[in-house]
Order: sequence, then C-alpha cells, then structure tokens
Amino acid sequence: MLKSLTALGLALSCLAVGPARAEDAASAGQAAHAMLTRLCDDFGGRLTGSAQNAAALEALAAELRGLGYAPQVDAFEFPGWRRGDDRVELLAPFPRRLRVAALAYSPATPAFEADVTDLGGLEPERALGGTAGKVGLLSPSTLLTARQIGQRAAELGLRAVLFINREAGGQLLARTGSFIGETLPVPVFSLTQEEGQSLQRLLARGRPVRVRCATTSAPVPVRTANLVLRLPGRSPERVIVGAHFDSWDLGQGALDNGLGVAQLYALARLLRGADLARTVELVWFNGEEQGLWGSRHAAAGLGDAPVVAMINLDMVGVPIAVNALGDADLEAALGRWHARRARPLPQGVQNVNWFGSDHTPYQLAGVRAVTFNAPIPRESVRYYHDRADTIDKLPEPIVVDSTRTIAEVLQALVEDAALTPRRRSAEATEKLFTTFGLEPRMRAIGYWPFAARVP
Ligand SMILES: [Zn+2]
Repeated sequence: MLKSLTALGLALSCLAVGPARAEDAASAGQAAHAMLTRLCDDFGGRLTGSAQNAAALEALAAELRGLGYAPQVDAFEFPGWRRGDDRVELLAPFPRRLRVAALAYSPATPAFEADVTDLGGLEPERALGGTAGKVGLLSPSTLLTARQIGQRAAELGLRAVLFINREAGGQLLARTGSFIGETLPVPVFSLTQEEGQSLQRLLARGRPVRVRCATTSAPVPVRTANLVLRLPGRSPERVIVGAHFDSWDLGQGALDNGLGVAQLYALARLLRGADLARTVELVWFNGEEQGLWGSRHAAAGLGDAPVVAMINLDMVGVPIAVNALGDADLEAALGRWHARRARPLPQGVQNVNWFGSDHTPYQLAGVRAVTFNAPIPRESVRYYHDRADTIDKLPEPIVVDSTRTIAEVLQALVEDAALTPRRRSAEATEKLFTTFGLEPRMRAIGYWPFAARVP
C-alpha cells in the first residue's frame, strides 16, 4: 500500500517519500503542461475527424510510449461533421464579411442571397410572420436547444439562422447542432455579438438588411479512436478516468479539453510502477464535442466488467468540490476521503447529477461517476469554444494543483474496500436522471434512452 501511495506521488505531507518515488504531482503536472503546449502548438484544434486530431492523438500515444507504456487505440465510427468554408456577407446596408462559424451538423449550402429577419429568442409567445425565404437573426437569450432551433427554422421556412454569441468581444461559439448526428435542416451560424446586435438595431429601425450565405461545412461519416491505457492492479475491479481528447477547431482546445488531456497524462506519469489495489483505466475520448461519441463507444464496450466508478475530467480547473452525481455509496466514499484530507475543499462533497459530458454514457450504462466542481478563471474560460482557447490561457499551476486533487480522489477510489463494484438497474438509472430534472433537456436533444412513461 505504501508503495502505491508513494508511486501516486500525492505530495501529501504525511506520507513518507522514499527514494523509489517515481515522480510527484508537481513535476508530473509540469511535464503534462509542457506536453499540452507541444500538442496545442504543433496541431492546433483537435476537431474529431480532422487530420490534426489524428496526428495529435498519435503524438500523445508516442508520449505515452516514451513513458514505457503501450496504449491501445480503440477505433470507432460515428456520424460526424467536417468544417469547410463558412461565409456570411452583409450586402445591405453596406458590404462586409461577417465573422461566423457554422454549428456542427449544418448542411453544405450553395450561396444564396436573402433578407434578414429578427427572431428575438424564438420565444413561444412571439408572433413571427413573413419569415419564409429569409435568414433569421436569433438572440443568445433563446432557451431552445440547437436541434429545436433547426426544427423551428424549418417550420418558419427560413434558409439559415444567424445565432448571436452570448460572449462579447468579437467572439464566436463553436458548438454542436445535434447530439445524435442528425443533419440540421438549414445551416445555423454562430455570429459575433457586436455584429449581431448591430443587425438587430438596423432591423428595429426598419432598415433593410440583406446577406449572402454559403457553407461547404458538411456532415460526414468519421472514423476516429479513443486512446486507452490500462494499468493492471491486484484486483480486476476497475476505476476509469476519462477526459475528452477532441476539441473544437477554431482555437487550440487548451482549456476544453486540453486541460483534461494533460491531467490524464499527468496521472499516467504518476502511476508508473505503482502497485495498485485496483485496475486503473485511463481513456482519452474522441467525438465528445459533437455528441459524446467516444464515451458512448467506450461505455457500450464495458460488458459486465466490474467497474467501481468513472471519473470524468472535462475542464477541471480549480477544484472547490467533488461531485458524486447522485450516488449515495459514492458520496459516502468521497466523504471518507474528504474527512481524512488535511486541507478541505471549499465546498466539500456534492451529490448532484448533471448532463452533458462523458460521464453521462457511463451513468446510462449503470456505472457510478464522479466529476469535479472546479471553475476555470473567468479571464480564461470566456474564450471557451473560440479562437482564443489557446495554451496561453492555461497557467501551469492550474494543471499542477488540480492534478494533485484528482490523484487523491483516484487513490481513494482505488483503495476504498468499502466501495464495491456495482451497476444500477435501468429503473434506478432512469430515476437518477428524472430526480435531477434532466429528462426534458435530454428528450429535447433526442438523447433519452428510456421509454416514454405513461403519466
Ligand atoms: Zn469539453
């Protein structure tokens, strides 16, 4: 046990640190930050299906082989989408190319010209007429999912939608238009807040606004892979730690989710030569941004493997709490760990399920999952999904400090004998999502695997 503790290198002051220590969390975190810097600058954004994504995944595998590991490439296919040239030009009141990025699953669309009409936030009570053949300008205040936006656009006869960004400063927001690989009926473009608001003001004054739109972006079948590193323990009981490898293409995906890529790599460094009570599986997922495709593939392949828990690392910045996502046994185990901890997390252990990252497919397979409540500083996270999500936004101490906490939680789950592998029944899983009010949104995006219930 002591060997595993020291190999985990948790830098807990109470631990004896012997000469056999492979590496501590600080140096592993620093090495991980340096690795991520190379990955970001050498390959840019890692949109799943792009050549950069494939080359960056191979570079990560090479880094792991350099540590003496033999990571496995677990290939899979999914209905993906590739970025082409997204063009929206203002024709009236004056010519200007607007800054846009199509949402994933926008269809390839030859150039057309149309007048622009203001949709507000597509509120149900808003009366809209004469929209057929036009381009809709959509406020960031909309409550609709991208899928619903596409459906409404088709009903209104719109030819495209310009979706104004919620962040100011000339930014765009790359995002998926479908969680289930469905092609949107018309292209939906993210548009900068400043340009969008100027168009809203023109329309409010009754001025004609006309645009030319075209995109060569298009849905395509994508063959990609997860990268899996299994570290056998004394027991086949498994603790899985996953982070999505892919990112959007506009920036470098440093925060989302190069951070998780680096944390997982730091764990690989820390666990070299560790005598583990349980088997640890590190998984770098692809296809998360388009719709959790890599974690869906991995969870589908679990069979009846004895899984204790899955830890998901998606933009884990400065941990203020660890979250058992609605599982009482896990909450107790995390509580036992937290009670032993010299420096408590500001918000301790939480137990609130949420939807929308790679833990979800595991939960739907009945597996317990853990996430962190760990904000990234505002001056960095504001660049989420845009061009400026670059490595300069990720200071090294964020990787180092978070790695320390993540490694502690992993160690606790690997060593807690009171927490035994268990899968929830389908009924209990459904309840886990309905209890926390997640059903309406999951239904709205078409990702609700349970039967419709009779009221
Ligand atoms: Zn993410």
